[in-house]
Parts: sequence; C-alpha cells; structure tokens
Amino acid sequence: MVPENITIQCKQDTQCCVCNNVSTHSLSYIIIPVPISSSISESVESFFYTVSLTGENAYDCNRCGVKRDADQSNVISHMPENVFLQIRRFKGLGEKDDAEVYPSEILTLYNDFEGVDYAIKGTVHHNGPTISQGHYTSCVCVDNIWYKCDDSHTSRVRFESIDWNSLYLLVYEKMI
Ligand SMILES: [Zn+2]
Repeated sequence: MVPENITIQCKQDTQCCVCNNVSTHSLSYIIIPVPISSSISESVESFFYTVSLTGENAYDCNRCGVKRDADQSNVISHMPENVFLQIRRFKGLGEKDDAEVYPSEILTLYNDFEGVDYAIKGTVHHNGPTISQGHYTSCVCVDNIWYKCDDSHTSRVRFESIDWNSLYLLVYEKMI
C-alpha cells in the first residue's frame, strides 16, 4: 500500500492519430527522477509531458491492430502533500557526476486546472566518489531556518551555502 500523501498519481492518455481511439492508464510516482540541469522546475515540468509517439516508438493501437503514430499525455490527477525528487547523478557502473544543482525554493506542479506550489523543506546529500562508497548527510528547514545533519552533529546553515554539488534528494511540501 502506497501512502497517498507522498504519491503523485497521473492519468496517461494515448490517442491514435488514425482512428482517434484513446487508451487510458493510471501511473503513480513516489520519486520523480530529474537529470542534472540548471532548472529543476523545467525538468519536473517536462516529466509530466505530452509527446508524439512515432517511428520506433509508435503505438500499438488496439483498434487499428497495427502500430500507429499517437499523442501521449501524462497529467497529474492527484497532488500529494510531499514531493520527492531524485537527482540522477549516477550512471551505468555507479560513476558519479558531481555538478552543482541549485534547486528552486518553490516548485509548481500543474494539472489540467491549476498550478500547486510546493516549498523546499529538506535535502539529502551523497558525499563520495561512487554509488557504493560514501556518506549521506541531510539538510532540513524548520521555521525558516536551515540545519545540516551529519550523523549526530547538527549545525545551522544558510540555504545558499548548502553543498549543491552533492545534492541527491529533494523534499518539497505543499504550501497552504
Ligand atoms: Zn488506431
């Protein structure tokens, strides 16, 4: 059983470009993977996509009985209380890219009707050269003050001074 308050539910519609038949699937995500980029918001927006399925990716239409070009949309149907993003730092053999990722403090998720704002509340950092080696730390925001937690040691930290080169996970909370 997946907790609703951390699950993003989506409705994925695929429409055949020839017969216009639409097939609908439900998808749910607890963690949204995002590539290393200068804009986390844009990466998240493009995750909830509308794409054309053509060529090798053409859609196997039930009604036509053959592969057809199709349009596919992925629209959020349930906005959770918390959203988790995972930075894709690790490649094939656990190799790590330690480029800086500076996140936006506010993230907006959209459905068909509205945008819902989320505020950044916490981060997890992986410090180390590969996926199999390293040490995790985290930063949390309590009453607008950021704290860095490193095993039993906790210290205050300015948001701008957080180590954004080791950022691995982001936690956002729905704003009221
Ligand atoms: Zn069709």
